Parts: sequence; structure tokens; C-alpha cells
Amino acid sequence: MLYIVCTPIGNLGDITLRAIETLKKVDLIAAEDTRHSKILLRHYQIATPLTSYHAYNKIKKAAELINFLKQGRSLALISDSGTPGISDPGGHLIRLAIEEDIPLTFIPGPTAFIAALVLSGLPTQRFCFEGFLPVKSGRRIARLKELAKEERTIVLYESCHRIFRLLEQMLAVMGNIEMVCARELTKHFEEIKRGRVAEIWEYFKKHKPRGEFVIVFSKNKITT
Ligand code: SAM
Repeated sequence: MLYIVCTPIGNLGDITLRAIETLKKVDLIAAEDTRHSKILLRHYQIATPLTSYHAYNKIKKAAELINFLKQGRSLALISDSGTPGISDPGGHLIRLAIEEDIPLTFIPGPTAFIAALVLSGLPTQRFCFEGFLPVKSGRRIARLKELAKEERTIVLYESCHRIFRLLEQMLAVMGNIEMVCARELTKHFEEIKRGRVAEIWEYFKKHKPRGEFVIVFSKNKITT
């Protein structure tokens, strides 16, 4: 059995009892950055062996992990944070397990985009999760132009290194729209900034942007 196990997005307390039980009982845990995941496992006294499964080795490693599962062993897939398969290499292993008819199950828990969407106060009935935009400028701008036509609430992931570039590109393509920036969710410095793109840009010029970001915007306001 492949267990897809959600882990916290920052606050170590945000893990379910079933996730802890599962991580204790499986034969092996596949994690992106094993040093990072050791902090969580140590905190919950989970002694299960860890192996690394990250973007750079995902093709070769997924094949090895599938062989391991075919021998009747159990494996838990976790990511650096939140839900495996959401903007991380988990999806590749999950697809391979499905192709190989390996039973899989999901142990639910946090994901950053749902927290940010709910906290944004923008419509949640219809939303569009875009994850990270393409890194290359041309493809990024093209995607932003598509998103400018979107009626659903848009949720994006961005790193602190590219936040100014994203805000400048949003301003150029969409104008000075209203947006919400959710930073360091569930952590000590959690911050939700609401305002127009240029205001958020100015705010971060004064307060160095650190940590992890989710950007949310919508053409529509909540009407109900
Ligand atoms: N699997 C994760 C999930 O379920 O949300 C996402 C992994 S992706 C590699 C990392 C990105 O998620 C960050 O760059 C940021 O955009 C977002 N993210 C993760 N944790 C966050 C947090 N605590 N606060 C804000 N954004 C976060």
C-alpha cells in the first residue's frame, strides 16, 4: 500500500493522529528533503526509515519505490510541507503507482492554497489553483494574460525571491487590481496583506519579503 500522507505547512502541531500512526507503522517513508522531514519525525518520535524522493531523482527513485511496493512492503509519501502531489514531485510516484495497480490511499491534512483561499475572503465557490507560474518571462506573461480573463478566484504559489517580479508583471498585465498576499501561513510570522498590487509592492519594499507566499485575486467579490 502507498500511503499519501499530508504533513504541516509550518506549524508542527498541524498533523492528524492518523498521519502519525501511519508514519509509525509503514516500512519506509519517502520524503523530499530528508533533513527537513527528520525534524517532524523526531518531534513525534517516529523511527521509520526515511529515503529521499525529490524533483532531481524522481524518475529513477520512483521506479525503485514501485519495486519496493511490489514486494508487498508499505510506503508513506510525504513532501516538505502540506499535501504531497501539490506543486511537488509526489505526482509522478502517484501516477506510476496507479499504472502499476498498487493500492493507494490518502491521509488528509493541510495544504497552503486552501488556507490562503479561505483567509482571502474572496469567492471560494469556483476557484482556480495555478501553483507556480512558469519561470521564463514569456511563458509567465502569457499565463498571466490568460488568467486576466478568468472569472474564478485565482490562487498562485510564489517564492520570496520572485515576489517583486510577480507583482510587477501582474501590474503590467492586469493593472492595479485588488489582491491578497498570504505569507508564512500557520507560522510565527503569519501575515495576510490585502490591497492593490502597487500597495503590496510598496509594503514589501519597506518590509523585506521573507518566507513562503500564496497570492489570491479575483474579479469578483463575495456576493452572498
Ligand atoms: N505541497 C505544498 C502544499 O500542499 O501546499 C506546496 C509545496 S510548494 C513546493 C511550496 C510553495 O507552497 C511555497 O513556495 C509557497 O508558495 C506555498 N507554501 C507552502 N507553505 C506555505 C506557508 N506556510 N505559507 C504560505 N505559503 C506556503
